[in-house]
Amino acid sequence: MAKKETALKDDGIKRKIKDFAARTLTVGLHTSVSDIANKIMKDIGVMDEKWSRYTTIELYNGINKDFYKVVPKKDRVVFLPHCLRNIKECKMPVDEDGYHCLKCGKCVLGDIVKECEKNEMKYFIVGGGSQVFNIVQRHKPKAFLGVACFNELQMAIEKLGGGSHFPGQGVMLKKDGCVNTEVDLTEVFEKMNM
Ligand code: SF4
Repeated sequence: MAKKETALKDDGIKRKIKDFAARTLTVGLHTSVSDIANKIMKDIGVMDEKWSRYTTIELYNGINKDFYKVVPKKDRVVFLPHCLRNIKECKMPVDEDGYHCLKCGKCVLGDIVKECEKNEMKYFIVGGGSQVFNIVQRHKPKAFLGVACFNELQMAIEKLGGGSHFPGQGVMLKKDGCVNTEVDLTEVFEKMNM
């Protein structure tokens, strides 16, 4: 299937998952997130691990959305994975607060960083979960937006707590791995501007 067709098909599935997840959450969670994710998958007709993971994150996002939205942007923090950088061209330096993008225009991180700065949101380009927890302890943000692979997002949701205490939103990478990963920028900007 051509890349454009695949992207359109993926957008359609994402819309359905978001609609089903939102409808499910209006009646409340009466069983585990994974059971609900499985039911949504069956109803939509896409039994695939990638979409099961996407549905799980969307359910967590739905649970935390209202708490996240009331936190002013200046009190939120955005965590971005360094694997999104253009590994061949990137020259960004790194220190205890993670990597510092030079906005050279050679990958999407530059676009996301510019949007964060426009919205006066703190952001960190990190190498993994332990760095995230360290930054949260030092900077004490009131809400977070995380862009990461499923495993890192799930770990962040479990360890950071979520809910009214420290609400979060997650955007799962559309192509994961250790280098040159990919994310849907529309989803990142949507969650940033909620
Ligand atoms: S935009 Fe930033 S992260 Fe991307 S290659 Fe340039 S310096 Fe690196």
